[in-house]
Amino acid sequence: MIKIFVTRKIPESGLQKLRSAGFDVSISSKERPLTKKELIKEFAKNSYEAVLTLLTDQIDNEVVDAMKKSGIKAISQFAVGFNNIDVEYAQKKGIIVMNTPASSSEEVAEHTTALMMSLNMNILPMDTFVRKGKYKGWDPQLLRGPSLKGKTLGIIGVGNIGQYTAKIAHCGLNMHIIYFDLHQNKKIEMALNGVRKESVEDVLKEADIISLHVPLNEHTHHLINKENIKLMKKTALLINTSRGAVIDEAVLVSALKEKRIRGAALDVFEHEPKLAKGLSKLDNVILTPHIGSATKINREEMAHISTQNLIHFFNGEHLDNKIN
Ligand code: NAD
Repeated sequence: MIKIFVTRKIPESGLQKLRSAGFDVSISSKERPLTKKELIKEFAKNSYEAVLTLLTDQIDNEVVDAMKKSGIKAISQFAVGFNNIDVEYAQKKGIIVMNTPASSSEEVAEHTTALMMSLNMNILPMDTFVRKGKYKGWDPQLLRGPSLKGKTLGIIGVGNIGQYTAKIAHCGLNMHIIYFDLHQNKKIEMALNGVRKESVEDVLKEADIISLHVPLNEHTHHLINKENIKLMKKTALLINTSRGAVIDEAVLVSALKEKRIRGAALDVFEHEPKLAKGLSKLDNVILTPHIGSATKINREEMAHISTQNLIHFFNGEHLDNKIN
């Protein structure tokens, strides 16, 4: 019987699928991510042929070595992003890595839009205003904010999530779309009148709202940094639902503190779950706990794809979601 280790409980439907396919499934009993030491210990103690990982597992070369010794041939990541896995090293060791691409696009785009709208309309401060009893009656001069209509949304990374965000913003909110991506996106240009810019910097200069949708890797680490954050408009908003370290978070805190930009909304953090010093004290930010893809239906979908990946692997079928 093929033995699979699941590093943390995922929806039952996925686990059931593996069992029905004849796999012997062991699940970590901890209600938290396993530490690197615990992962290594698990693989040293037991023989497995595959592992189902989460984005909170740090799969570096030492963990890959331990996996290899355990007998692991495949890693299936229950996430779109896979920056927590040393994919190159896994490849070197002959271990296949798979993920759940496109599983969360609509959900994350919805969350991004919710953050953009809330931030722009000052929803959190307005809520506090009412709760504190400061609302004394309707007033045409009261707390007027800007509208999104006609504003320019700059999207960095127009893959599955970036594209869907662009569609909602253009078709639903009448926003102009500009973007930077390594590749031209004709769909955005033809269907949404989107304009491709030459660089991240060009987007930062021109956009009223900037939304980040790139994977985290050595090229995108601190893509928004001390040098280029200065290019943003003083009225600009920055939204990040990609990965925390795409922004130098300490630099962002300074820019927000000094009101060099108007606000930011973050679903992801550089040293998750820790926040950069001073971030939670700011009133021009919205912070959510990495829940961009957290709908019931999407978690089921992720469970389906991540377990299907393993079934396909052991059946010798074509692997649509192979990364390496
Ligand atoms: P995707 O692969 O479909 O799109 C990524 C896009 O970024 C591609 O178009 C690619 O060409 C572009 N890109 C890559 N490197 C770039 C660079 N250096 N400069 C400019 N563009 C670059 O991925 P996706 O499904 O849209 O997801 C994007 C990221 O969102 C994931 O990698 C993941 O980290 C994150 N994510 C977050 C959540 C959440 O819960 N907040 C959920 C799912 C995914």
